[in-house]
Amino acid sequence: MNRGGSGIRADLLVENASELITLAADPSKGGAAGPRIGSSMRDLSIISGGSVAAFNGRIVAVGETHEVRRRVEPVPDAEVIDATGMVVLPGFVDSHTHLVFAGSREKEFIQRAEGKTYLQILSAGGGILSTVRATRNATHSHLVDLGLAYLDTMMCHGTTTVEIKSGYGLSVDEELKTLRVIRELDKLHPIDVVSTFMGAHAVPPEFAGDTEGYVRHVIDDMLPAVKEEGLAEFCDVFCEEGVFSVRQSRRILEAGLALGLLPRIHADEMASLGGAELAAEIRAVSAEHLLYASEEGIRKMAEAGVTATLLPATSFTLGLGRYADARAFISAGCPVALATDFNPGTSPTLSMQFVMNVAALGMKLHPAEIICASTINAAHGLMRGNQVGSLEIGKLADMVVIDADTHLKIPYKPGTNIVDKVIKEGRLVVSEGRRIVS
Ligand SMILES: [Zn+2]
Repeated sequence: MNRGGSGIRADLLVENASELITLAADPSKGGAAGPRIGSSMRDLSIISGGSVAAFNGRIVAVGETHEVRRRVEPVPDAEVIDATGMVVLPGFVDSHTHLVFAGSREKEFIQRAEGKTYLQILSAGGGILSTVRATRNATHSHLVDLGLAYLDTMMCHGTTTVEIKSGYGLSVDEELKTLRVIRELDKLHPIDVVSTFMGAHAVPPEFAGDTEGYVRHVIDDMLPAVKEEGLAEFCDVFCEEGVFSVRQSRRILEAGLALGLLPRIHADEMASLGGAELAAEIRAVSAEHLLYASEEGIRKMAEAGVTATLLPATSFTLGLGRYADARAFISAGCPVALATDFNPGTSPTLSMQFVMNVAALGMKLHPAEIICASTINAAHGLMRGNQVGSLEIGKLADMVVIDADTHLKIPYKPGTNIVDKVIKEGRLVVSEGRRIVS
């Protein structure tokens, strides 16, 4: 071991955590660095009295505090955080959001209170389409300002990586505008942003009654333009009754894949349409929502290794009285991830902690499963599993310090932010639950 000045350099140390949740790959199982499935979702690889050291934004040591202290040599101005009595875990990965939009939709809560369903509000010109109008009318810089504020709130609640989908533009120019805003947010904000093109989020008014024409527009005009500017990593489709059929979804996702955009899909949210089966057939990286996924669809997704990204805050907001069958996905061997689905209509929450609360209460998941689904599995669901989602040497030093002495308390207090500190790439960005302006 290195001693007396020859240690590994560290510019950040987080020490004495009552529980250091590493989610590190288990070396006894070959250290396989994939998502966690089945009963391994309950194993968080916890070190009590744990410490993490980082240098230049990357983790350089993980272990018991005395052990890490022995191995590393802090640089003179190193940041040392004492996490005594606290839980330290990887930053949350919010792998499904629609964060770039203008306006808000609180008025729909009244329509819902009067018994209108989501699809009824949509077909009356509300819902997504009202957000499309507001977003089209907004400038790039206004959308950037709104997005930065949303990202700040997310970060104060522990999120360090977020996926953002376009889909409130629904024309070539407006989708490109949204995707450029997403790129700008990634540049300007400490949170890492992953970009998804979702031109097939709804049929815009110009194509009312001509879904097929719009599908061709997405494939022939939008996708090549998105590809040309290199604006997205993934392509997503709202495969749903009254929106895009399984056949149309398949054509769009295959066209995206041909251009190098990896497929993800909004599947079986309101009806059992065969979206889960499609996700498996085209080997989508992730299928999302899945409230009505069939048994067959779940089995096929597990076989194909498709991540099931479940969005319980949406079920909660819509008052569906029903959640995706998380237990069935876990039993089948699907990697399960959780995300906010942040959007102005059906899930206006920016907090992964709230999602975790609802997953515990509504889906009856164990706290350990919930943490796994919000970190390492969500990271794999965004193809970021080799960078974030666990506290292991070489990965980004993205960490949350939670004001609780056991991880069991993480999904325990709905509506309460228990994040004390957030560290993004080795830098303290949130302290006492507030953004540090640097
Ligand atoms: Zn969504």
